[in-house]
Amino acid sequence: MKTVRLKKGREASLQRRHPWVFSGAIETVEGNPQAGDVVRVVGSDRTLLGVGAWSPESQIRVRLLRFEDGAIDRDFLQVTLAAALAKRNSYLQDTDNNACRLVFGESDHLPGLIVDRYDDFLVCQFQFAGLEPWKTTLVELLAEQTGCRGILERSDTAARKREGLTGSEGTLWGDPAPEGVLIRENGLQFEVNITSGQKTGFYLDQAENRHLVRSYCRGRTVLNCFAYTGGFSLAALSAGATHVTSVDSSAPALTLLERNLQHNQLHDSRHQAIEARVGNLLRDWQAEGRRIDLVVLDPPKFAEQKSQVMKAARAYKDLALQAVKLINPGGYLVTFSCSGGIDLKLFQKITADAFLDADRDGEIVRYLHQGFDHPVALAFPESQYLKGLICRVND
Ligand code: SAH
Repeated sequence: MKTVRLKKGREASLQRRHPWVFSGAIETVEGNPQAGDVVRVVGSDRTLLGVGAWSPESQIRVRLLRFEDGAIDRDFLQVTLAAALAKRNSYLQDTDNNACRLVFGESDHLPGLIVDRYDDFLVCQFQFAGLEPWKTTLVELLAEQTGCRGILERSDTAARKREGLTGSEGTLWGDPAPEGVLIRENGLQFEVNITSGQKTGFYLDQAENRHLVRSYCRGRTVLNCFAYTGGFSLAALSAGATHVTSVDSSAPALTLLERNLQHNQLHDSRHQAIEARVGNLLRDWQAEGRRIDLVVLDPPKFAEQKSQVMKAARAYKDLALQAVKLINPGGYLVTFSCSGGIDLKLFQKITADAFLDADRDGEIVRYLHQGFDHPVALAFPESQYLKGLICRVND
């Protein structure tokens, strides 16, 4: 039996059901496991801690799939997958929405696996060498359990590289994906380019927040920074914003945004799209003396690694500072960070510093979080990454 024995004193995190074994925690490796092989993980006294899969190239050598003895096989994966799907079933069945994340990696006990549903199509990312041998089985199970029309792979190349895997894209099962899939999200329709849009095509993690922000938009002017294909812009317009400006540096995203306005009969003079870098636009607007009632800041991840946290913190602070300067008294700043390394406490401090430097008084009226379909397993706090604040700008 292939077995990984931990160093003395390194058992605690696994006993707390955290699924990662780092290379530095390993005392001995028995049975010469190859990438993807199932291994038993035991403590220094050889007590069984769980069963996982081996990934020789990654700093995370083993990711556990179960915390008791037992096989990793089709039956086990079927039960694990069914549990993940069950968490999303009522959302998909009892609402009119037809898109959400079905599998969120470690939080759904399927390490490194992401599966997003867009109407009848699924988009997957496989970013863990240990699940690679199970790809065909998982795809068959997904097809069986969801009744989808087609399954597409769009794995993140950088993440796969860290696992010693090559990039991987293309149809895995069923019909080839059309370029555009129409999804319904809380009364709005979005065209999602699942073959070449960013990530798997759409930022599903913001669905609940797009809906929540609506209640602050009525009768207000809105500046949606990092708009992508218009998620927050359409939410604001449909909620009765008097004018919305959408800013993004990606021309293809803005083209899709225009189509999304049309899909929802919202293509009127209340909206303007600007292709620009947000930092430049905020400074230009300041120089022109422009003012706005509500600003959304939803930038891409600034800190990819722990070592970049301080630099990222400065970037978030500068962004919020430039935005707050534009906001009318009584208006709102809606600000997000999707960098896992920046926790809520730090993000709140960054935002407070921005208000202070702008010489404005503000208060937090709501804390925001990634959607329910991106659950945070209590045993795996690393899965918490998206945080946001709605701040009122008092004077
Ligand atoms: N809020 C969006 C998701 C934003 S993702 C939604 O709800 O769908 C981040 C976006 O920032 C991407 O569309 C990317 O093209 C854009 N982007 C990245 N750097 C930028 C910059 N410096 N200026 C403007 N847009 C930028």
